[in-house]
Amino acid sequence: MKPVDIAHSKSRNELVVTWEDSTASTYPVPYLRSWCPCAGCQGHGNEVKYLAAPEETSIGGLFEIGAYALGIRFHDGHDSGIYTWEWLRKIRAEAAPAGYKPVSYTHLTLPTIYSV
Ligand SMILES: [Zn+2]
Repeated sequence: MKPVDIAHSKSRNELVVTWEDSTASTYPVPYLRSWCPCAGCQGHGNEVKYLAAPEETSIGGLFEIGAYALGIRFHDGHDSGIYTWEWLRKIRAEAAPAGYKPVSYTHLTLPTIYSV
């Protein structure tokens, strides 16, 4: 599944990805940062980690990486995460497994996920 549109709302501090099947996934920026896929954030274990980022986390820039991923530079300059379409599908809130405790951001309630 690939995105057909990626919209960054600065006022809502979120990224909205519209997929080729016309569904859309909303990612608050702190949530995205919490799921940063880079080796520095994820380490070398087998378990995928959710590292809760502060709510004021924002995006400094977005860049394309080939046709398969989105690069995100956060406000603090951290830009080593390569958010592949596959990764974005995996972490979207709608796909989150049942049973996780919800955590609320200012306008959206999302599951807290510690591993996928
Ligand atoms: Zn990272």
